[in-house]
Amino acid sequence: MLAAVFQAPGRPLGVERIADPTPGPREMVVRVKACGICGSDLHMADVHDTEGGMTPLAPGVVMGHEFAGEIVALGAEARAAWREGQRVAVLPFIGCGACAPCLSGRAHRCARAQWAGLGKLPGAYAEYARVGALECVALPDSVDDASGAMVEPLAVGLHAVRAADVQPGESALVIGAGPVGFAVALWLRQFGARHVIVSDFSADRRKLVEASGASAVIDPAAEPVPEALRRIAGERPALVFDCVGVPGSQQLAMDYAPTDGRVIVVGVCMQPDRVLPVKAVTKELTLKYVFCYEKRDFELSVDLLARRRIDASAMLTGTVGFEGFAAMFEKLKRDKTQCKVLLNPGEK
Ligand SMILES: [Zn+2]
Ligand SMILES: [Zn+2]
Repeated sequence: MLAAVFQAPGRPLGVERIADPTPGPREMVVRVKACGICGSDLHMADVHDTEGGMTPLAPGVVMGHEFAGEIVALGAEARAAWREGQRVAVLPFIGCGACAPCLSGRAHRCARAQWAGLGKLPGAYAEYARVGALECVALPDSVDDASGAMVEPLAVGLHAVRAADVQPGESALVIGAGPVGFAVALWLRQFGARHVIVSDFSADRRKLVEASGASAVIDPAAEPVPEALRRIAGERPALVFDCVGVPGSQQLAMDYAPTDGRVIVVGVCMQPDRVLPVKAVTKELTLKYVFCYEKRDFELSVDLLARRRIDASAMLTGTVGFEGFAAMFEKLKRDKTQCKVLLNPGEK
């Protein structure tokens, strides 16, 4: 099969033919219909050392963890729940299937989980991918492949908003209008937030998020954020989400938060960062980090997409086939005007 293969840190991916996957007993193989290019993949491809807490990828790794596909092969035990031709959104890890986290839909906490796209388990920048039978959620016909691939970023946002314990009528500032900020804003609106204010330097991204979840947007280059917050909401929102994850963004979230505010860090910073704890201490901030999602975050996202209660389509700013994939991946490392770009393995 064709796959976009990691070569070396800082180098473009190479589209190559590699061996087709075969499913284990509790596994399946899906034909990848769409796979999102994720900011963390863009970061991981440029990790040269362990200074930021991440291990550089090994040559030969296939990344890609935001995907939907069609089942084409099943292991013996997977047949109890699935059949060929079914379409699924995939949680990008395979757990042991027997421990408490696995049995409660939290396989990302399984000590034996294999993670797609980071080495052991190849990801979905490929024509086919190996997936766990327990780690799939069926896609109804009303959810197309592109939306199916965007269930993963939606689940990231849902998990973050659940962790924030937002109360109806509370307001929030979302720093960053990339896919994560987009999804967080979308769910904040669902959860009854009063003001959902999103800041981003990109006019394109501000326009997308304003159409989908934000009640107001801020251009931090045009107006100091605290002044904009006062103008829009009359006060600083109780909740501040860091959806950027670069050095300095956590500090910004603390600076913008009010006394007794809650800061939720969703963006994954893979470099050393410096924060001034005194700012958080004197405001008595609550700081919460979130990671991944549970199976129920996927299930709710799929269900609400199917019933048109939420719409992720505005997040999608482009698709690319294998031919242009490596160039697009390099471009997205710098171009922050796009939101979500999908690999469509069926496209030329
Ligand atoms: Zn991702
Ligand atoms: Zn397990």
